[in-house]
Amino acid sequence: MTTLDIQRHVPLAPFTTLELGGPANHFVRAEDESTLSGALRWAADEGISTAVLGGGSNLIVPDEGYDGLVIHMGITNVEFLDGGEVKAGAGVPWETVVDGALSRGWAGLECLTGIPGSTGATPIQNVGAYGQEVAEVIAAVRVLRRGAMTFEELGPEECAFGYRDSWFKREPDRFIVCAVRFALRPNGAGTVRYAELEKSVRADATLSDIRRAVLDLRRRKSMVIDPADPNRRSAGSFFLNPIVAAGEADRVVEQAIRDNLVSDPSEVPRYAAGEGQVKLAAGWLIEKAGIAKGTRRGAFGVSTRHALALVHHGGGTTADLLAFADEIRTRVRDQFGINLEREPRLLS
Ligand SMILES: Cc1cc2nc3c(=O)[nH]c(=O)nc-3n(C[C@H](O)[C@H](O)[C@H](O)COP(=O)(O)OP(=O)(O)OC[C@H]3O[C@@H](n4cnc5c(N)ncnc54)[C@H](O)[C@@H]3O)c2cc1C
Repeated sequence: MTTLDIQRHVPLAPFTTLELGGPANHFVRAEDESTLSGALRWAADEGISTAVLGGGSNLIVPDEGYDGLVIHMGITNVEFLDGGEVKAGAGVPWETVVDGALSRGWAGLECLTGIPGSTGATPIQNVGAYGQEVAEVIAAVRVLRRGAMTFEELGPEECAFGYRDSWFKREPDRFIVCAVRFALRPNGAGTVRYAELEKSVRADATLSDIRRAVLDLRRRKSMVIDPADPNRRSAGSFFLNPIVAAGEADRVVEQAIRDNLVSDPSEVPRYAAGEGQVKLAAGWLIEKAGIAKGTRRGAFGVSTRHALALVHHGGGTTADLLAFADEIRTRVRDQFGINLEREPRLLS
């Protein structure tokens, strides 16, 4: 039986990429499944709530912190098996999985390079970038079902993956992801289906070429964490790209033309998103609503390189970050009648 090392009053800001927020009243690092279930039992006996922390790159911690037990996922075993199978514990840094796969010539993750955080968080919002989503290569997710306290393997069809969405995200109190199993494609062709990436690589691009091009594009948008980058303290994209009915997208185009924001409908970025659905670009909506890249409000600003990322320049509070985000949402709602939804989770 593992002894639980429960710490008190642990500052959470250093565990997050935004470097914001207060302490956890109780904190434990779970390096194996028995520590994880032991921590949940301990919290239940104490009558306190629990929250799961991975790499803190998609998390906003309130100024008052968390009045319960924060469980930091530290299950870090990873195996690369014959035939392109990868089994990785929830606490394995995501880039370790990407790196191991690409160095073996296994396709399926080449566009997902440079995304910070842990492997266990990738199914939560079905991480995606440059035309690839992790759900395309997930074979199974090993979870701890909180109510029953049982370990189970869920197939991808049970995870209800969608655009930055899954069952785990919709029902955060039901499961903790302990490990993920991926089925990759040894010697497979890389994925080049995103227009911006297509322009950056040749038709015969190798997996390494694609990875290099993706990292280059990401760096130009401050979407890889670089200690020397003034835009480094963010949670990546702060808002989801809204998916709306086709008629609603047409209304946005008409509004943009009426207000002289564009002269031609083709200037409004729109992408097919399933039958009768259109994905709009949240960054475009924000800029056209009058919030330019680099706009500052005290300790916070829109990234100078990416209209969707909100940057903490140091010494700020979470309350101020959320107020700035509300201001942006209101501007977009007033201009286009579109509600932007926040991407990072608020620890509560
Ligand atoms: C610079 C930058 C660029 C980014 N680019 C992208 C991108 O291109 N595409 C993209 O999709 N995302 C992107 N992100 C967002 C983020 O990196 C991903 O969502 C990542 O998967 C979050 O992992 P994490 O371990 O940091 O999760 P955390 O921030 O620690 O947690 C996020 C949420 O998941 C929950 N969670 C974490 N681990 C588990 C677990 N094991 N079981 C149950 N719940 C869990 C947490 O409770 C929380 O609600 C970016 C972020 C940054 C800072």
